[in-house]
Amino acid sequence: MPEGHTIHRLAAAFDAGFAGQRVRLSSPQGRFETEARRLDGQVLLDVEAVGKHLLLALGPEANLDPLAGSPAVSFVHVHLGLYGSWTFAGDEGFAAAHAIGAPRRRVGETEHAVDDGDAEAGDWRRIVPRETVRLRITGAHGLADLTGPTACEVYDAEQRAALLARLGPDPLRADADPERLFDRVRRSRTGIGALLMNQDVIAGVGNIYRAEALFRARLDPFVPGRDLSRGMVEGIWEDLVPLLAYGARTGRIVTTEPEHRDIEARIIERSRGTRQNGDEDPGVVPREKSFYVYHRHTLPCRLCGTIVRSADVAGRTVFWCPRCQSVRTRRAPWSREHDASAWAYAD
Ligand SMILES: [Zn+2]
Repeated sequence: MPEGHTIHRLAAAFDAGFAGQRVRLSSPQGRFETEARRLDGQVLLDVEAVGKHLLLALGPEANLDPLAGSPAVSFVHVHLGLYGSWTFAGDEGFAAAHAIGAPRRRVGETEHAVDDGDAEAGDWRRIVPRETVRLRITGAHGLADLTGPTACEVYDAEQRAALLARLGPDPLRADADPERLFDRVRRSRTGIGALLMNQDVIAGVGNIYRAEALFRARLDPFVPGRDLSRGMVEGIWEDLVPLLAYGARTGRIVTTEPEHRDIEARIIERSRGTRQNGDEDPGVVPREKSFYVYHRHTLPCRLCGTIVRSADVAGRTVFWCPRCQSVRTRRAPWSREHDASAWAYAD
């Protein structure tokens, strides 16, 4: 499942490719046909990502304020879930409009650059949608096809507000309120590993960021939220903000510090989950060097050599190093030098 950084990249792609334009909407698959017909020809007023949710604001006139509560404004709400993806194609103007680098034909778990044979300049209007396309959005310079989403529906302003009110803070949003995260975690008996995957607690963190942020905090994933100090939860948040920002900028999750990347540079390639945008580019940090514990179960920890473990938590696999991640006290990790007695290592 794409994590929050991918949805923010998608929002940037929509903003650059379609914002302010009258767009055509259609549903080749038919399951969004009534809604697409109603919104067809409206102006894309705004694009917004919150956690793993994408919201496209549409209205009849370009001068409408999408957040003023006007009943004329509708929000197409998309959640990709496990199998959803967006495919983009367009002309050179569309490509140039991308604020995030080369145009991508598919943005989901992985992204692929436009390949020359398929979508040459001017050709994109002739691309016949696959019959599984739930929603096609066509602008002046390109198109976007949505397939396989968990949710594709129309919200009004109230429903948009309710979604934002339900979700926890998103580390990539300027208006994020981390106090909500601190409160929720410190009132919960649930393990921090499960809490970080709960989108109502923190929005946008998925399985990779969860595993890696806990390693970086040296935190045992099974420690109940209420056993953590405020400083520890603040530390997780302050670590996640730049990690997700890097992901949003590059399309890649990289959580290792440079000095650790060549140590035990291996990964268990068992699913598509380890593949990321740009894996083929020679300049990127390769995925076997990108993570401390994610998909590294049965391999030695980069820092201590202990075998990395995995377990199922709330339906998703959590990965951790039982030696490095043994923090179970209320003291923040950075207090270690000053007060060694506050540290307890579980054996
Ligand atoms: Zn370790």
